[in-house]
Amino acid sequence: MDSSLFAMVEGPRGADAARILSHGVSSITIGAAYHRARDVTPHGTTRVTFRHDGVHFPLGDHFDGLRLVPPVQKGADREPIRALRDETRELGVALHGWGVFLHNTTLGLAFPDVTQENCFGDRAAPADLCPSHPDVRAYAVALGRAIARQGVDSVVAESLHFGTFGHGYHHERSFVDLGPAAEFALGLCFCAHCLPRLPDAEKARDVAARLAGDVLDGGPPASDLPGVLTEYARARAPIVTSLAAEVAAAVAAEGSQLTFLDLTGAVLGYADGRPTGAPAADSAWRIGVDPAALGSAVPSYAILCYAHDTVRVGEDVAAYRAALGPDTALRAVLRPGHPDTTSAGHLSAKAAAARASGADAVDYYAYDLFPLPALDRIRSAGA
Ligand SMILES: [Zn+2]
Ligand SMILES: [Zn+2]
Repeated sequence: MDSSLFAMVEGPRGADAARILSHGVSSITIGAAYHRARDVTPHGTTRVTFRHDGVHFPLGDHFDGLRLVPPVQKGADREPIRALRDETRELGVALHGWGVFLHNTTLGLAFPDVTQENCFGDRAAPADLCPSHPDVRAYAVALGRAIARQGVDSVVAESLHFGTFGHGYHHERSFVDLGPAAEFALGLCFCAHCLPRLPDAEKARDVAARLAGDVLDGGPPASDLPGVLTEYARARAPIVTSLAAEVAAAVAAEGSQLTFLDLTGAVLGYADGRPTGAPAADSAWRIGVDPAALGSAVPSYAILCYAHDTVRVGEDVAAYRAALGPDTALRAVLRPGHPDTTSAGHLSAKAAAARASGADAVDYYAYDLFPLPALDRIRSAGA
């Protein structure tokens, strides 16, 4: 199986295949549908890059009749994804199309009713589109199909699940020490499309509101999550699994295949690369994901091993492999530099640990975001 480097479309002529591949990978995973961000881009044409929500290809007829239509990025009419497809095909390497699905501030601000609604009835997570909403589901299926139609070998779906409170917008302020339980409760969605799909939903909403309300009223941070909220959160898994299955079918119908990107490893280790506690697979329910069920609905599954500790990388991969069973392809994504990796040897050790623990492929995140010396470590880690 190939080893892929995630990369974003940049510059007037799109991503440069030869330069990306020069870092020792055998394929490219290109951002075809991206989300708003401000990135430090150490070796880019801009050194700090502002990114927008939207797709890097013309819409075609994929979203005809749908309420949610993705913004189109500047330069999409020059078809940078198709150009990269032509170039990679000539080179004989795979091209994967990476899409951020349900994390889209532009759509959420334009259509607040499709975003997650918290236990107090607030619509205050404009970036998080709710996977229960039928318009959101139709959008996700259309987006998967549209990316597949770019001729990519697979569609890598990021954020095809519920969001969390800690990342609902990009300028967040809280001077309340919520504690992990109240923070989690505030991230749960209780919208009109979630409530009828989930057992004891109104009771769960009341418990969440009481838990968070007590802390907001001046009480101590809440660290114990009531069972009713754990059950509510776990019961969301079929919503996400069925959505992933629908997107996978649409992608397969275009002759491509879906890779579900499970963001749990980023939730745990994004900021410092120091995830603690049980392996990431045990926390996937926090974003509405049941790896065992989801793994049987998609042909390929990617996890983010955002960890400094080599042993932890092995444990995370092994736990996902055990949950997924032997038949789902498992791709482990590593970051080659800060804050996860300090040397070429360190990266090689983690790549080896991932393979030894059941990863079929090791991928790297991301070409645009790391200084060249960090990217150079990938070559010795092996493709
Ligand atoms: Zn975001
Ligand atoms: Zn909802």
